[in-house]
Amino acid sequence: MIITIFGPPGSGKGTQSNLLIAKYNLKLISVGDLLRNIISSGGELGKKIKDTVESGNLIQDEVICELLRDQLTLVDDNFLLDGFPRNLNQALFLTRILREKYNRDVNIIIELQLDDKIAIDRLKNRLVCLDCKGVYSATSFKNDDNLVCMKCKSARLERRIDDSDLSAIHRRISEYYIQIKSLREYYKDRLLTVNANLDVVQVKQEIESKISCNLV
Ligand code: ADP
Repeated sequence: MIITIFGPPGSGKGTQSNLLIAKYNLKLISVGDLLRNIISSGGELGKKIKDTVESGNLIQDEVICELLRDQLTLVDDNFLLDGFPRNLNQALFLTRILREKYNRDVNIIIELQLDDKIAIDRLKNRLVCLDCKGVYSATSFKNDDNLVCMKCKSARLERRIDDSDLSAIHRRISEYYIQIKSLREYYKDRLLTVNANLDVVQVKQEIESKISCNLV
């Protein structure tokens, strides 16, 4: 199975992706996490892309498509893409490379839909575990002394730099709505839309029920 998941920043793509890979036994390719790892490793590419990611802009398609091509050498045809494609050009590249490599295409495309106000609230409060990538809301911790990851117990819970700046948040949200138009059109016969304003479990259930209807 090949799944891709779209949604504005804060829609819970990362959280739902982790639940989906566990349920359907898929490999995860999270482009955002890959980029953040490249940046924190401090190499040449990391230095080049750091400012763009931190300011909330998209990285050039050539860089991202190359990165995806490398990642696809590490998986068979059972994986979930979080953060790819983000525009029509990337979608065309994905169709082409999947046809070349597996003679197939993405079969499940999920779009998480979320109100902007909720997105902004979630991003302002989002904490990410640097070790296991678990995502939390700062509001779920009683006091700042107790910031420990509930999954791996790491104390390295931090805000993402692109969440710390309100203008970067707005830029990412508006860029998302510009690009999603052509993606909706491109995938219109296979798009599963899900209400992401609900809580994690409700969103998970809606996704799973739409996937199972789609697989029969
Ligand atoms: P979010 O969906 O919250 O913006 P991600 O972790 O998916 O977070 O992505 C973080 C940043 O990484 C984006 O703002 C962008 O700079 C970059 N990025 C991720 N995926 C892509 C992509 N497919 N094309 C270009 N840039 C990307």
